[in-house]
Amino acid sequence: MTSSRKGTVYIETYGCQMNASDSELMLGKLRADGYESVTTPDRADVILLNTCAIRDHAEQRVLGRLGELKASMSATSIMGVTGCMAQRLGPKLLARARHVSLVIGPDGYRALPALVERARAGEKATHTTFDFEEHYEDVAPVRADRVKAWIPVQRGCDYKCTYCIVPTTRGPERSRRLDDVVREVAGVAASGTTEVVLLGQTVNSYRDGGHDFADLLRAVGAVDGIRRLRFTSPHPNDFSDRVIAAMADVPAVCEHVHLPMQSGSSRVLKRMLRRYTREDYMACVERLRSRISGLSITTDIIVGFPGEDDQDFEDTLSAVREVGFDDAFTFRFSAREGTPATRLPVELTVPEEIATARLERLIATVRSGARERNATLLGRRCEVLVEKWARRGELLQCRTRDFRTVLIPGADSLVGRYLTVELTGTTGSTFTGTIVTERTPLPMAVRSIGDAAPAA
Ligand code: SF4
Repeated sequence: MTSSRKGTVYIETYGCQMNASDSELMLGKLRADGYESVTTPDRADVILLNTCAIRDHAEQRVLGRLGELKASMSATSIMGVTGCMAQRLGPKLLARARHVSLVIGPDGYRALPALVERARAGEKATHTTFDFEEHYEDVAPVRADRVKAWIPVQRGCDYKCTYCIVPTTRGPERSRRLDDVVREVAGVAASGTTEVVLLGQTVNSYRDGGHDFADLLRAVGAVDGIRRLRFTSPHPNDFSDRVIAAMADVPAVCEHVHLPMQSGSSRVLKRMLRRYTREDYMACVERLRSRISGLSITTDIIVGFPGEDDQDFEDTLSAVREVGFDDAFTFRFSAREGTPATRLPVELTVPEEIATARLERLIATVRSGARERNATLLGRRCEVLVEKWARRGELLQCRTRDFRTVLIPGADSLVGRYLTVELTGTTGSTFTGTIVTERTPLPMAVRSIGDAAPAA
């Protein structure tokens, strides 16, 4: 039950799932303090933008949005910026947007109610210091999604890839205790949610002092009521044999891995300080596929990294074909102030028009591979979890275990249910389907339930 004795809060979230999860924690803190959440910014007492700093474009978007939202403020509203951009820019943000009175980095959300009070009293309040012990263990998140739950298991990153701002904005890697994670997952399962997604910047490097990621997968997969277990994003170097064995053994672990590649050229990977070669990456793919049948693989790829020449880019295209990615998030390199990549010699800069042309070719290559693979899956039957209404609102959006999106006709009562559907059509990336059977959620999944996941 919410109470609005303090006022209303509106939170807009940008960036990765970790930010989505942090917004749920922030809302938990503010609800406990007496705020009521609202879904539109109009005249909300507190307007917060939880931001991403990974690319310049993301920051520009937030700056533009801060300007737009000014019109939604009442005479007593306050506006705050939280997340990675807040951590990166700190008090400088207050000067760039004078109607902003609150700036809080990812380790400062425990102090959110007190900082909001100060801002509402007319102060400019900032909190951008790191707290390497902070996991918000005692903060109950207000979850936005009733079908799946984000479970942060690790904060920060120790890798220091040369293009990445995350080690600066989120600090070094630290993991939650396995018992604490399992307790949270058990609570989520008790409330009827059957899918959890474990979150970390390099989630499979999880280590709490006594347990590794393999232990975590086994422990979470054994929680009564958890039928689907996913994780994001892993680093290729942290797929130990123990982790892969746990993925293969634990029935709830879904047959999908998001495996950031970034480039198919070992030369570029070296400059990115990804700490693996193309061959290492391919060996990792092979090890995963040899243990987990029907595994689908998605990835992240950056084009136009400084020094990337035509051959490097061709290597990326050939790697895309060789792996046969089921989907990819593709980006043009964006130099972030404060990252090592900005110190590379200026003559290595890839001209914008070349980077743009490469991005277009890359997208076309990813899409045509995915389209070909998806066409071979038509007619298959598979288990889906109904997630929500699709954006256009006429069809329900469902997800297969191997992370394919299927749109089906149906009723609101199906959201959160597991169904068997037949894949009847594809646009290339998304499927349409028809219901074959409706099933009620089971307390524990076993992989032999339902039909095999489609092969990638
Ligand atoms: S692994 Fe690299 S890209 Fe990923 S968060 Fe860490 S530094 Fe950034």
